[in-house]
Amino acid sequence: MYSMPLFRPPSEAQSLIIQVTEGCSHNKCRFCYMYKCKQFRMKTREELQEHIRWLKTSYQNPERIFLADGNVLCLKTEKLIALLNYIKSEFPTVKRISSYSGPLDIIRKTDDELKLIHNSGLELLYMGVESGSDNVLAFMEKGVNQQQMIEAGQKAVKAGFKFSCMIISGLGGVEYMEEHAVESAKVISSINPHYFSLLRLVVEEESELADDIRRGKFHLLTPLQILDENIMMLENMELNDCIFRANHVSNYVNQAGVLNKDRDALVQRLKKFRNSNNFIPMGNDTL
Ligand code: SF4
Repeated sequence: MYSMPLFRPPSEAQSLIIQVTEGCSHNKCRFCYMYKCKQFRMKTREELQEHIRWLKTSYQNPERIFLADGNVLCLKTEKLIALLNYIKSEFPTVKRISSYSGPLDIIRKTDDELKLIHNSGLELLYMGVESGSDNVLAFMEKGVNQQQMIEAGQKAVKAGFKFSCMIISGLGGVEYMEEHAVESAKVISSINPHYFSLLRLVVEEESELADDIRRGKFHLLTPLQILDENIMMLENMELNDCIFRANHVSNYVNQAGVLNKDRDALVQRLKKFRNSNNFIPMGNDTL
């Protein structure tokens, strides 16, 4: 059985999901509704064995496994390594194991611990940077600052993980639009992850951010401002061989390429949309 709701990155659509924890240990970000209804907890060894037995009745030979929920890296290193070994023995066909990762969980582990975890089979980590701006991170109550984001990302890459970072377009609102674009580009460039995805802010009615908007403390960007912000962000990126995607259901314009190789072409394409009288935003405001 899964404890619902269950989330995974779009690129894990084909993966078997093993729910190692429930919820998010931070659970305070003002824009995030994902785990608000859940109290964070780690499953016991017995619960995990039972969960995996249940999964095996439907999935015998998965090649990809995603460990949910929010931040599996908060498990003690020995426990996580034992779990990875157990998963590999139960699902010997698995070729890739991945999970979300919180920046503080990465920082708390030593370089050697991270290498051990990676060598034990956790290959790909996803980290929601959300914004590189200290002001935006503080306003959104992300619980970490720019420097910590960079430190966590660089540490994960150095330990050998394939690393994927996400930024939320529009998260600076009108108030910090430019700062969000420039500082996010700075953080992503400093980490130089293998993958970088750009999603667009979609405000859930129940989130604290919806209240901020009603009280006039946060102003959403218009579709054209989103494109201006995206252009500014890309123009400030300095990346080497980073696979870039902005093809989530929330994005106004689908984008894909390798940064920085394709940066100029991507910027030119966005400018074309930006300056066209026929631009109709594609994004979906209800996910
Ligand atoms: S954005 Fe991530 S860290 Fe923040 S509350 Fe949501 S799941 Fe937790």
